[in-house]
Amino acid sequence: METKAQRIERLKREKNPWEALDELRRVAAEGIEKIPAEWMGTYLRWWGVYPQGDGAGVLGGKGGEGKSAPYLMLRIRLTNGLLQAHQLRTIAEVAREHARGIADITVRQNIQLHWIALESLPRVLESLWCAGLTTMGSCGDDTRNITGCPLAGLDGDEIVDASPLALDATRMLVGNRDFYNLPRKFKVSISGCRAWCSYPEINDVAVNAVQINGDIGYSIRVGGGLSADPHLAVKLPFLLRHHEVLPVVKAAAEIYRDAEVLREHRDRARLKHLFLRHGWTADRFASEIEQRLGYAPERHEFDSSPDTYRDHVGIHPQKQPGLSYAGVSIVSGRTSAQQLAAVASIAERFGSGEVRTTNMQNLLIPNVRNERTAEAAQALAEIGLPTSGSPFARGAIACTGAQFCRLAITETKSFTRWLVTELEERMPGFAQHLKLNVTGCPNSCGQHWIADIGIEGKKIKVGTQLVDAYYFCVGGGVGKHQAIARPIGYRCLAADVPDAIERLLDRYLLLRDEDEDLRRFFARHSDEELRYWLAGVPVETALRDASPGRPPHEIDI
Ligand code: SF4
Repeated sequence: METKAQRIERLKREKNPWEALDELRRVAAEGIEKIPAEWMGTYLRWWGVYPQGDGAGVLGGKGGEGKSAPYLMLRIRLTNGLLQAHQLRTIAEVAREHARGIADITVRQNIQLHWIALESLPRVLESLWCAGLTTMGSCGDDTRNITGCPLAGLDGDEIVDASPLALDATRMLVGNRDFYNLPRKFKVSISGCRAWCSYPEINDVAVNAVQINGDIGYSIRVGGGLSADPHLAVKLPFLLRHHEVLPVVKAAAEIYRDAEVLREHRDRARLKHLFLRHGWTADRFASEIEQRLGYAPERHEFDSSPDTYRDHVGIHPQKQPGLSYAGVSIVSGRTSAQQLAAVASIAERFGSGEVRTTNMQNLLIPNVRNERTAEAAQALAEIGLPTSGSPFARGAIACTGAQFCRLAITETKSFTRWLVTELEERMPGFAQHLKLNVTGCPNSCGQHWIADIGIEGKKIKVGTQLVDAYYFCVGGGVGKHQAIARPIGYRCLAADVPDAIERLLDRYLLLRDEDEDLRRFFARHSDEELRYWLAGVPVETALRDASPGRPPHEIDI
């Protein structure tokens, strides 16, 4: 009897799905009723496709996984969030024709569609290819979308535009048969900005530009990841030069690929588990890289980035004189085909036809002439994409949730929009930036572990009904004072979440020191205090639920 891990490893050895496109076309033509289990359950993922849940999340299924609808999810990878207006228009057309008109921007700068019929899949992929877009490797055991600063090349304060490196790394790893069979997903970020807005701390491999005595180099971290076992990436002691970045990223990918011990359990297969379970250290990883390179890169110790909040919302000047970018706030990343088509037109009319996606599920339009920014902002507001927003709207992130995800315990997207509206009405003067992350199960695709306030979905029984509820994790963050959010032992019904957050933030406003942000405030108060403020009355510690089982190796937003 094969274990799940053994079966998937066998299937991967038997076929490289990237080299089986004709077979994909054949199984798609035969329809969803006849699709072989290995295609539906495994191989489609290498083409950015996985089964869509039936809307009930995990309920009604078995083995920790809910039932599927006869439709597919499709994830379009956008390296560094880079996108041209004609490509966005193509995505809008595909969304309108095949995906019931909705499109979600994800925390890895992808755009994700749902409701795709299997029979339409080849046509959808071809439409995307004709526009220079791909879904290759956006799911599956391979290199996921390589993220980077959405202001690459625009930001006056950036160290260097690192987006060419992100594009080169994508060409090196994606579609390359040497890297189609990794133990599981492999997440890379490469950024040249000072704010580290692509969250290197939670990537498997993260490269960040640094300035040393006037020279530009790169630092590297490895082994970050969230899901049910959060682990912040460890710094390697290297100062890399530009020409060393790709060889070192390749060496890290090879180390991961060749770590057979990671292939034994699907839920322990991420690179971070070398550190969490197998005793690896930064020095061990560095020396493995040196062996593969055949030489030792220069060594250096680095500080982390400052604790910068950056959501790219608003009108801001670029490094290019006379130009600005317009960043919009999209609560929970949900957009419509009409909005995307309109954004494409606005980008052509007011900018240079470029659009960027961000890892806070937002969009921005670069290269708007300063004298036209007000017009551009007005045009965006008219399609429901404002260039401003309350701290709640700007800081809210939501994972896919029960609408489409088979592992979800709760619905997240509509809930998050409702939560934001409630908090805006209750606390209209609240001005502090906060990260408010909603995730539909403990697997943390909504990144609740690095939120100021992170809530994870659960169910509470009310009478005979199982009702959506949330468990609170507080005080997470990336940057200089990086921390995994603390599970503080409080849960409540989804309907009561606005009350709880309002109570907590009222306490913050009342008790904070001058200029004290949420992160420092939460850090200097105990779990008991935070739990009491959330609940409003003394309550027993509620235990966190365990992960619903298999981590979502195919589902990340
Ligand atoms: Fe699904 Fe991931 Fe959200 Fe869980 S955290 S509900 S697996 S998208």
